[in-house]
Amino acid sequence: MIDQILPDLYRITLPMPFRLGHVHVHALQHPGGVVLFDVGMSIPESFRALGEALATLGRTIEDVDQVFLTHFHVDHCGVAGEIQRRSGAEVRMSARDERRINNEIKPEEFVQRAVDFYSRHDLPRKTVDALVKLLAVFRKATVPFQVKRPLEPHDRYQFGDRRLEIIPAPGHTRGQMCFYFPEDGILLSGDHVLPEITPNLSPDIFDPDYRPLRSFLASLESIRDLPVRMVYPAHGAPFPDLAKRVDEIRNHHAERTRLILEALRGGEKTTFKVSQDIFGKNLPDFDEYLALNETYVHLVDLEDKGIVESGERDGLVLYRVR
Ligand SMILES: [Zn+2]
Repeated sequence: MIDQILPDLYRITLPMPFRLGHVHVHALQHPGGVVLFDVGMSIPESFRALGEALATLGRTIEDVDQVFLTHFHVDHCGVAGEIQRRSGAEVRMSARDERRINNEIKPEEFVQRAVDFYSRHDLPRKTVDALVKLLAVFRKATVPFQVKRPLEPHDRYQFGDRRLEIIPAPGHTRGQMCFYFPEDGILLSGDHVLPEITPNLSPDIFDPDYRPLRSFLASLESIRDLPVRMVYPAHGAPFPDLAKRVDEIRNHHAERTRLILEALRGGEKTTFKVSQDIFGKNLPDFDEYLALNETYVHLVDLEDKGIVESGERDGLVLYRVR
């Protein structure tokens, strides 16, 4: 499905087999070809839908000369390598996320680190095993690609009459970027600001010093007052009021912090036990993993603020109120 946003800018909706069911990518026609902003997964039904959408513009995959990627998740960048192979397109992404995807493509080390980390935080072994399997599925749906020149914060690009600015938005991933058309007041927000849900926040298991929640909240504030007419997220419907949505998301995280602190009032707990108090028990495996990540990033933030402390016993990390 393809929707026109500006005379030369389009939103393309692609299928994906996860719960959200779809991802929006964007295409800009310019004198030199077609620029894609995110590309969807490397699965036949998605790649076919992308080709069909471009065909309605009289274009093909081979006309794509540039690919801009918001972040390294498979639903956003999966088929970039295939497009690059067919069209020779230049692929751009932040250096951070590019490094991360290369780490994930070395599966053994990634899996070992993931197993160690999640076991210490008490995630049940069956969920860890399911996660390892799912990571292999994600890897299969990602075609490797080359990034010659990574995206830098506030870089500017000109395509015909259209000016593009790269807006840094670390949080959901460390190197996430949003794409902003200042003259048109249009923000392609990727997964940074979504209308119905908040993006999952998860630790960088290659860097324990990374603070996802703090980065995410700071990135939200930094874009809150951007002059925007319409936000086009990667999932869900476009929406006009960016500041209102930023405020809702900030309040949501403040409320979650309060609930997590309440869960620790009864005594020390592992991250997994706290996540069960907040998100419930017997969740599907992947939800259990997401719930643990979300809980973890809040606990780390509370620990940084001196409100909770942690210690390790019998190979498990335990948190308690100070
Ligand atoms: Zn994502």
